[in-house]
Amino acid sequence: KANRKFHPNDTAVDIGGVKIGGGEFQVIAGPCSIETKEQMTEVAQKVKEAGAGLLRGGAFKPRTSPYAFQGLHDEGLKLLLEAKKATGLPVVTEIMDASHLSLFEDVDLIQVGTRNMQNFELLKELGKIDKPVLLKRGMACTIDEWLMSAEYIMAGGNENVILCERGIRTYETAVRNTLDLSAIPMIKKKSHLPVIVDPSHATGIRFMVEPMALAAIAAGADGLMVEVHNNPAKALCDGPQSLTPEEFDHMMQKVTKTRDFF
Ligand code: PEP
Ligand code: MN
Repeated sequence: KANRKFHPNDTAVDIGGVKIGGGEFQVIAGPCSIETKEQMTEVAQKVKEAGAGLLRGGAFKPRTSPYAFQGLHDEGLKLLLEAKKATGLPVVTEIMDASHLSLFEDVDLIQVGTRNMQNFELLKELGKIDKPVLLKRGMACTIDEWLMSAEYIMAGGNENVILCERGIRTYETAVRNTLDLSAIPMIKKKSHLPVIVDPSHATGIRFMVEPMALAAIAAGADGLMVEVHNNPAKALCDGPQSLTPEEFDHMMQKVTKTRDFF
């Protein structure tokens, strides 16, 4: 179902009235983690003003250490939905366990993170609903494995899948991950599904987010997902890769110019 052979035309996925794919480009922005009402409200307002089409924020965080901040869970989702109401932006947040699905009823786009890309039982559950799914690439997975994971969701009847390249593990240690820009034209060749790029997790370093975002546009991405925090130095997760609202606004101006060029 994900194969281009049987669907020659690009697919556009509708997320609460906002489309990604089929020529429609969107920027998803917001903090890595939902922390407080003030943080969420402020970041949501600022990214909207800068031109983001969707709002992100993690409530269930897949942290490497069990002692690191794990997210605000249902309390976080509540704050995210308040920000959705205040801004009118559709919201994106990560699911880690199918048993939490009932909490995601008002979430517009459900994210499957890199660590769960091959959690096949979770993918099967997401195949049973009709809500759009943002499927991030496993950090050590091939393009074909990634497409097969999309197939797991689509095989169940949910064809609203958006792919997200977020960097892969290589021998390079100067960056958090290695952004595989070549995945974008390859996915476009193999599949009709929309593909976006997350330059935040792909680099892990603030100054590299903008150049890689622009490179993703040149490579043909249907959108971007960027982490923004009102006080990156105090962020509970991923501060070093988070843009300030001002930096995000600056990036967005260049995004517009780059899109016009292509
Ligand atoms: C995230 O988007 O907050 C996240 C945890 O991303 P990834 O799964 O790509 O690490
Ligand atoms: Mn993050």
